[in-house]
Amino acid sequence: MVNCGECGSHKVKEAVLPAYDIDLRGIIVRLVDCVTQVSCDACGEDTIEIPDLDGLSKTAAMARALVPFRLTGKEVRFMRFALDMTGREFA
Ligand SMILES: [Zn+2]
Repeated sequence: MVNCGECGSHKVKEAVLPAYDIDLRGIIVRLVDCVTQVSCDACGEDTIEIPDLDGLSKTAAMARALVPFRLTGKEVRFMRFALDMTGREFA
């Protein structure tokens, strides 16, 4: 049973969002059917639950790496962040 992270009420509704865009350090990633929105009837708090954000960042970075366009500086920084690499390892 899920309860509200704010007030602890059990009067919460869970809904899986069909699509949800998140901004991972400048890279917009659309998550389809895997983000849960929990809304609380008692206090009105809405919480977004994103599964495995760390793995997701890596997946997004890998997917981006397969696109044969020159990476922007922002994207390179994102990929270093996602893959936990130093600049030297990355090069
Ligand atoms: Zn609540």
